[in-house]
Amino acid sequence: MKTIALIAHDEKKNEMLDFVNNHKDLLEKFHLVATKTTGELINEKYHLNVETMLSGPMGGDQQIGALVATEKVDYVIFLRDPLNAQPHEPDINALLRICDVHNVPLATNRKSAHILLKYVSSKMA
Ligand code: PGA
Repeated sequence: MKTIALIAHDEKKNEMLDFVNNHKDLLEKFHLVATKTTGELINEKYHLNVETMLSGPMGGDQQIGALVATEKVDYVIFLRDPLNAQPHEPDINALLRICDVHNVPLATNRKSAHILLKYVSSKMA
């Protein structure tokens, strides 16, 4: 089973919930991992059985980065907040970088995330 990582900064959490709601049928077919708050919100609302890591500022992005580096994550959807500085900016950059190192598809906004899932679902058909 392929794995998708989901991360949303605070300003993007509602957008992530909306996104998950719109793609629930597809997402159910994947192993999902997420940073703590993002994953807990998704589990609470949609019961998707998301595996949670630490919260982003506490090292969750790095944990997901480690999964990318060891090829345990196939796709990353990371709705980041481009308008506010984050305390864990170095970790965020490290995650983006490690996705590029390992050629793991990474979507950082809702539209690209939608396109990514469209591609993924076309591969499953
Ligand atoms: P969170 O982490 O899902 O625990 O809020 C995401 C982040 O802020 O990087």
